[in-house]
Formats: sequence, structure tokens, C-alpha cells
Amino acid sequence: MTQRAREIADNLAEVRGRIENAAIAAERAAAEINLIVVTKTFPVADLEILYDLGLRNFGENRDQEAAPKAAALADDIHWHFQGQIQSKKLPSILSWAKTIHSIDQYSHASKVNEVVTTPFEIFVQVDLQTVQNPDRGGVPLPELEALLDRLQELGNLKVMGLMAVAPLGEDPQLAFARLSKIHSQVLVSYPEYRYLSCGMSGDFEAAIAAGATHIRVGSSILGSREPLI
Ligand SMILES: *Cc1c(COP(=O)(O)O)cnc(C)c1O
Repeated sequence: MTQRAREIADNLAEVRGRIENAAIAAERAAAEINLIVVTKTFPVADLEILYDLGLRNFGENRDQEAAPKAAALADDIHWHFQGQIQSKKLPSILSWAKTIHSIDQYSHASKVNEVVTTPFEIFVQVDLQTVQNPDRGGVPLPELEALLDRLQELGNLKVMGLMAVAPLGEDPQLAFARLSKIHSQVLVSYPEYRYLSCGMSGDFEAAIAAGATHIRVGSSILGSREPLI
């Protein structure tokens, strides 16, 4: 094993330990928490190490970066897209991604629906900021219900549930508690939207406590990266 492989394997073991402990604390089964390794900015060689460690769920934020990585790696990887969507990039994103976590507009959902032929997994990203800030994405809460209702028109989408990022500077426990409450309200009308994509390196324990089923973890496994965006 190379030094880098050892480092990634050790980090992964530590993250899995944290997931386990957070699941126990929340009286949940660790098996119901899906770990997506966020591989943005890291080279294909690192993804090969992750693959050899048995990981198959990778998350990327940019089509230009992810498309060649997906082409270079095995076909049984489940690629997740969680970045900001540009409409014109969607056909390319859909050529490699199997799940999009960052749908926050009807027009993007409708474009996905047009391009795909079999039900395609999406999460609807909600904006948890108490003061609106267009930078981080997500549908503003007052518009969430109307968006979910409109998605019913789109037969090629499989809506998995909600996705969110904890606002900068806010205690993630408070932010994810809000998300959990929003999710409960959504489940009344749409019981099949049962998944919750939230939690990153710094806050996935809080996310697991709030019911996260999909956590997106990069730097805790792969190390720090140059700031993106
Ligand atoms: C980069 C990113 C992550 C992973 O963040 P880390 O802090 O490296 O774990 C998760 N979700 C989204 C939307 C991201 O952009």
C-alpha cells in the first residue's frame, strides 16, 4: 500500500467510526447512512484508491472536472452531482451522473426530465439561510411546496427527498433541526421523498442526528483542498 493509500484508508476508518458513533447516539442503524465521498479537486489516482477500498459513491461539483474522471474510471461507480447547475451543462452532467442533489428550480428539473429516459434520482435542495443569500443555492422555503407540486408533472424524475447545506456561521444542529422539520412536513404530502442529503466533513454528526440518509464527505477523507468557488 502506498503512503497515500494508507492515509486515505486511515481517514476513511476514522470517518466510519464517527458515522457509527453518531448513528448510535441517534439510535439509528449506521447501515442506513450512505457515505458519498466528495472527490472534487482530487486526482483520478485518489479515486482509484477509494475504489480499491470498496467505495462506489463519489460526488462532484463541476461537469468539466467530473466528466473526464468518470470516463477514466470503472462503470460501476455511482456518481453524484451536487454543484451549481448551469442549464446548458445538464446534458453532459446527465451523461455521467446518476443522482443530482442540487435541483432548486423547475426549469432544471424539467430539462433533466427531457433528457433522461428512465427515472432519474434527484434531491431538491432547500435554502436553510434565515437571511436569503443567492450564492449557496437551494429553493427558498416559501417556494418549496409549489416546486414539489410542479415536479409531479415530470414523469422521468425519481424525487429522493431533500438536500441542504448548513448556512455558514450558524450552528449546524439548529440548521439541520430546521431541515428535519421541513422534511417531516414534506413527508405528509409526499411520503416517498424519504431521503435526506445533508452533512459534510464538519457537520455530519449533527446531520445524522437530524435524520440524514446521504452524507457528502470530502476533506475528512481526502484532506484539505484549495478553496473552490
Ligand atoms: C464540497 C462539498 C461537500 C464536501 O465538503 P467537505 O467539507 O470537504 O466534506 C459536500 N457538499 C457540497 C454541496 C459540497 O460542495
